[in-house]
Amino acid sequence: MTHTIVHIKKDCISCGACAAVSPDFWEMEEQGLAQLKGAKQVDDHWERDIETEAERASNQEAADVCPVSIIQIKKKE
Ligand code: SF4
Repeated sequence: MTHTIVHIKKDCISCGACAAVSPDFWEMEEQGLAQLKGAKQVDDHWERDIETEAERASNQEAADVCPVSIIQIKKKE
């Protein structure tokens, strides 16, 4: 099952929670904002497709801890 991870990076408050719980996918840039590894910028956000349940679960953890809810996981049609 393919999902797309969406990150509204411009609204990141640099808390570091996503990178703490899901370091395989999330890192903190020198400027202080979170970056989804391997993501590409699309319009006003960043996104990346994932394939496995383990990948989805790891990113769901990141989404759950983000205090401003700017990490979203969407099922791909
Ligand atoms: S958890 Fe959310 S607000 Fe915190 S660094 Fe990650 S994306 Fe930014």
